[in-house]
Amino acid sequence: MTRVFCIGELLIDFVAENQGNDLSKAINFTKKAGGAPANVACAISKLGGKSSFIGCVGKDPFGSFLLDVLKNENVDISKSQRANTFTTLAFVSLAEDGERDFVFSRGADRELKYDSSIKKDFDRNMIHLGAATAMLGGGLEEAYGHYFFDALTKDAFISFDPNFRTDLWKDNEAVFIKKCMPYVEKSHLCKFSLEEAFLLSGKDTVKEACEVLHKAGAKIITITLGKEGTFVSTDNMQHTVPSIKVSPVDTTGAGDAFIGCLLYQISQLSNFNMVFNDDELLMKMVEKANKAGAITTTNYGAIIALPTLAQLED
Ligand code: ATP
Repeated sequence: MTRVFCIGELLIDFVAENQGNDLSKAINFTKKAGGAPANVACAISKLGGKSSFIGCVGKDPFGSFLLDVLKNENVDISKSQRANTFTTLAFVSLAEDGERDFVFSRGADRELKYDSSIKKDFDRNMIHLGAATAMLGGGLEEAYGHYFFDALTKDAFISFDPNFRTDLWKDNEAVFIKKCMPYVEKSHLCKFSLEEAFLLSGKDTVKEACEVLHKAGAKIITITLGKEGTFVSTDNMQHTVPSIKVSPVDTTGAGDAFIGCLLYQISQLSNFNMVFNDDELLMKMVEKANKAGAITTTNYGAIIALPTLAQLED
């Protein structure tokens, strides 16, 4: 079975309780494991796939907590690192209308050091680059570039999610676009939200956005549309694959569950090139990945809400 190496950040989300969206008024916070690529690694493992997480946490109790969460989800953490600085922390408070207040204290995730010995493991395997913090500089950005190059030279399957966060890139979008495009150009699979597809392409319809992004080199493009499902685009077809009907209580991690489930299915193929030649197969996979995203919204939390294979096939 193919292994998926998920590279990026693992951090603590401190989520304010019952304080609207004003962090200055928040008193109680719930500690949660966060970081999109770590969520994706958990999603793959929970479905029965093989995943490894490559990232850096601090040598502090928060770092120990985070690595334990991944270990308990059967994610391989042997390639993860610990730095002599504090674990990255995000404080967030959410109002009922989705408005949020956000404070970010960047620590150990930026300290990731490139490890050239991992390159050989990419052979016939897959990598997923999906860090919200990767383009913010530091060791993580450097390591990202090296691992991307290694994956290209080893013919690994490459998946990319830009994970744009307005809070982190306010007034600096042009830099974000410039840093992301080399990944879009050479990845086999790109997962965008509507906002990301429009931002990176400079267009404001999905069809035009995909046209620009395919022209740049993107192969399979998926644009997640919440309850509407997912827009899929290849050189040969464009289609919206609908999702299932659910009653959502918390949409955190739906996108990570979606891409995790899609990568899990690709990892089960005897040869991942099959996904480029068979649009029907791709659409069936997206349909299942939509279901994974939808199920995740029916439970609170990100990792805890991820579905198992049995739940998915129920
Ligand atoms: P995130 O907000 O987690 O960073 P995202 O915005 O990419 O990620 P969504 O579009 O919210 O993710 O969800 C991913 C997928 O999950 C969707 O494409 C859809 O298939 C499914 N999904 C999400 N929300 C719902 C919903 N309310 N009903 C049905 N399916 C949903």
